[in-house]
Amino acid sequence: MYPRPFEYVRAGSVEEALDLKSKTGGRFIAGGHSLLPMMKIRVTSPETLVDIGRLDDLRGISANGGFTIGALTTHSMVASEGGNGFPAALKEAAGMIGDPQVRNRGTVGGNVAHADPASDLPTVFAALGATMTATSKGGTRDIGAADFFTGLFESALNDDELLTAIEVGSEGGGRGSAYAKLFNPASRYAVAGACAVVDLDGDGTCTSCTVAVGGLTPKATVLGSLASAVVGSRITEATAEAAGQAARAEVGDDVMGDVYAGVEYRRDMLGVFVARALTAAASRAV
Ligand SMILES: Cc1cc2nc3c(=O)[nH]c(=O)nc-3n(C[C@H](O)[C@H](O)[C@H](O)COP(=O)(O)OP(=O)(O)OC[C@H]3O[C@@H](n4cnc5c(N)ncnc54)[C@H](O)[C@@H]3O)c2cc1C
Repeated sequence: MYPRPFEYVRAGSVEEALDLKSKTGGRFIAGGHSLLPMMKIRVTSPETLVDIGRLDDLRGISANGGFTIGALTTHSMVASEGGNGFPAALKEAAGMIGDPQVRNRGTVGGNVAHADPASDLPTVFAALGATMTATSKGGTRDIGAADFFTGLFESALNDDELLTAIEVGSEGGGRGSAYAKLFNPASRYAVAGACAVVDLDGDGTCTSCTVAVGGLTPKATVLGSLASAVVGSRITEATAEAAGQAARAEVGDDVMGDVYAGVEYRRDMLGVFVARALTAAASRAV
């Protein structure tokens, strides 16, 4: 299907993008890989698209103790970021998104602003405790990932705000992270995804553990019960399996099923992928 007719305007700066948005009441378009498919099936029909795709100041990754990722950074750029404490889970998840065309056009900001429960990056940013920076004509504000994802395709971004950057901490020094997902074989979207961030002491005992899940829950969700299954122990096959079981119990009835995968299957698979993410994160925590 074709989208309904729409006007197209291109912004040359953040200020212009915000102006055009408020004047036209339109929608921002970055890579277009989530918005255009929705327009084609007419789930949404904005009258104006405000193209932010050439705001080069919002593209790229800078190191500053942690890392600041511009909203227009593509998935490919994140997937090719290497070493220097850049979170391994983020690099890994970006490399698993869709196919090369999707990774070359799709942006981190678009992925996060769209808040699709099947997307990978919200899960990773939730586990990493990322901070999102939103810019409006009134200034900027920071939103923690825990408050950013508010529901199915819903975020804390206000209509007059542009997501401009996302900040994450660095790893190393005993901290490691990993992302693992069961994916839809056609689209590569997550059917069940898990991101683990762990800190190990010199003996290999886990001193902190954060696991977020997505794909099967309405929004990326940090699981509170897993720390008690893991902290104070070494991450062995048995601990990872216990964590997987705790994950299944915690998501409980909050699991969504669809034509691709039913509720029970997704919940069951979640445990497997939580265990895999934890094991991989521990192996990287050096
Ligand atoms: C075939 C296919 C397979 C895919 N597979 C996966 C996958 O495996 N995993 C995965 O995570 N994703 C997947 N995606 C989605 C892909 O990652 C998208 O690129 C991403 O979700 C949206 O980014 P975008 O830049 O294309 O955003 P757009 O489509 O341009 O915009 C999406 C939404 O976000 C808003 N928006 C965009 N940028 C901003 C901003 N800076 N500030 C405020 N609002 C903004 C737009 O107004 C729109 O509402 C897939 C997409 C396709 C087409």
